[in-house]
Amino acid sequence: MPRRPFVAGNWKMHGSLAGNAALAAAAREVAERFADVDVAVCVPAPYLAQLQGLLAGSRVGLGGQNLSEHALGAYTGEVSAAMLAEFGCRYVIVGHSERRTLYGETDERIAAKLAAALAGGLTPIFCIGESLEQRDGGRTEQVVLSQLNAAVDRIGQRAFTDVVVAYEPVWAIGTGRNATPEQAQEVHAAIRARLRQVGSAADAVRILYGGSVKRGNASALFAMPDIDGGLIGGASLVGEEFAAICAAAAGAR
Ligand code: PEP
Repeated sequence: MPRRPFVAGNWKMHGSLAGNAALAAAAREVAERFADVDVAVCVPAPYLAQLQGLLAGSRVGLGGQNLSEHALGAYTGEVSAAMLAEFGCRYVIVGHSERRTLYGETDERIAAKLAAALAGGLTPIFCIGESLEQRDGGRTEQVVLSQLNAAVDRIGQRAFTDVVVAYEPVWAIGTGRNATPEQAQEVHAAIRARLRQVGSAADAVRILYGGSVKRGNASALFAMPDIDGGLIGGASLVGEEFAAICAAAAGAR
């Protein structure tokens, strides 16, 4: 089944009121140009209101980068799914490796966040991936599938039709060292096979690759049969680079 390509920018903790307008304009422009590609930007929470305005009436989806597993309450510093939705978010990144490693988010907590996102009507961009040590130890598939299993156990296999999966090898994020298209394809195929095995509509689930995607490597990655687009960190902070990656996604279909 053909899947619509999807390119999502993860601005991480970057941005400014003054600088965001140019990035939003670039995303709007590229989304107009390539109607067959879904485009989104996931921005720091304080800029959601600004981006909601800048992207109004465009095809660019807005996303958060994290959310609380709780609906509301005494959780100082946290942001709920309902709050993200109120500011126009359609997406939220869940389980990014920086959240896992720097903020101690466990598979269980991430699964609870997935459930909260879905309950709030958001589409989670669910990140999974292995460390360099795990890859070198031959445990890539085992690690990635156990991260996936924790989510399936919590939200159920059917819910995966409302989830975007992002395979992000930790060793490739922000390092300039991307997985080769073949390495990424191998893991994407394993993820899809597991989703099929547990009874998800696996052919409909979009699986993005993330980790040092640039204009120079995007086409080869997106040409792989199980790679449906990208989650883009550093390169999403340069308008024309992000646009070129979206163009590569359009060309891959
Ligand atoms: C990311 O932050 O999700 C990411 C993939 O970063 P980069 O593209 O900079 O490696």
